[in-house]
Amino acid sequence: MNAYIITIGDELLIGQTIDTNSAWMGQELNKIGIWVKRRMAIGDLPEEITSALHEALQQADVILITGGLGPTKDDLTKHVLCKYFGGELVMNEEVLQQVTQMFASRNLPMLDVNRLQAMVPNNCTTLINKSGTAPGMLWHHQNKIIVSMPGVPFEMQHLMQTHILPLLLQKSDTQILHQTLVTAGIGESFLAKQIEAWEDALPPNMKLAYLPSLGMVKLRLTIRGDKNEDLQMPLLQQFEALKKLVSEYLFADNDEPLEQTISKLFLQKKITLSVAESCTGGYIASKLVGVAGSSKYFEGGVVSYSYAAKQNLLNVKKNTLEKFGAVSEECVTEMCEGILEKFKTNYSIAVSGIAGPDGGTDDKPVGTVWIAIGSAEKIVAKRFMFTKNRLRNIELIFVYALKMLLDEIA
Ligand code: AMP
Ligand code: MG
Repeated sequence: MNAYIITIGDELLIGQTIDTNSAWMGQELNKIGIWVKRRMAIGDLPEEITSALHEALQQADVILITGGLGPTKDDLTKHVLCKYFGGELVMNEEVLQQVTQMFASRNLPMLDVNRLQAMVPNNCTTLINKSGTAPGMLWHHQNKIIVSMPGVPFEMQHLMQTHILPLLLQKSDTQILHQTLVTAGIGESFLAKQIEAWEDALPPNMKLAYLPSLGMVKLRLTIRGDKNEDLQMPLLQQFEALKKLVSEYLFADNDEPLEQTISKLFLQKKITLSVAESCTGGYIASKLVGVAGSSKYFEGGVVSYSYAAKQNLLNVKKNTLEKFGAVSEECVTEMCEGILEKFKTNYSIAVSGIAGPDGGTDDKPVGTVWIAIGSAEKIVAKRFMFTKNRLRNIELIFVYALKMLLDEIA
């Protein structure tokens, strides 16, 4: 089954309101195996609503519409849909009673425009909206399902959960399954090259999506088919093959934040971690403690920004700083040793770099970063060249440091 999502409202087009309704509905439809073929955001104009509906009716089995159901003059959806399906607006006593009760319970007077909310097309199924005054409307037309709901997100969600999703679940004859993995430390195009042959040989019911962000690329493998087909097995087979192909860069074989993967690994292995941060200013520590339960493996960290802090808190030698500078293999190695010694953890991370936009030199331009991972056995340090942008560099350092840590443990 295919769906069209149409969101209506001038505010969506000018970016005043972000269209979260489409995202939410898309996620819910995906869960029950309905493929969203197209999403359209349109203004509050009768001709736009008519033409969007016309297109949707030719393309989709299910059409979900939100917005334009308010009591004010700018909200036109109900009138346009009623006319489109050849009906008339009539007073619905059940809705009127519900709206009247709602105003009474809030101790508010009811205006004529509020009464008009109870006027509904005589050719649709009316969906009582317990969380607002505008009812939802449902048409069965040419073997298709068309639903119009209010734009207010929680009202739409309420109608979807109580009426629409159960109905669609019953009607849906298709299923969609996904498997997602996370890679770090390789760009999207290099990754694509590495898996080209495998991707080209995927069967037609499977599709791979690349979802890049700073320092990482998620790969989502999707399979679509009939509800009673076994899709799990072919999906997992291909997913395992993909995992092997990208093993060098693989961070997690599910869609979770990097810090969550690290947390799970440390808890499972019953090992501990500490961090020494210069240019990230505590960002790594902050991300790690964002995961509940991090206290079981994360001992603590030091933000050693200045030379003095590096010397006094981490025992970095004055001579090291003078001779090699703070952004050097020698300094980051001593930071790593210093923090291990201080917190007595199994592993440690140390980072030092020039985040920018100033502070670069010819031999150490902005974006130069040293990352070290320490353990009782060894300290591994690597130099990276990131970007000229300070905040992007901080994020990249976080990703690469966690990838190096993972590689040392695995
Ligand atoms: P309406 O049903 O057009 O009266 O919409 C009422 C309110 O819902 C608007 O003022 C918006 O703030 C919000 N809204 C409308 N459409 C969306 C949407 N697609 N996503 C999120 N919020 C929306
Ligand atoms: Mg509106």
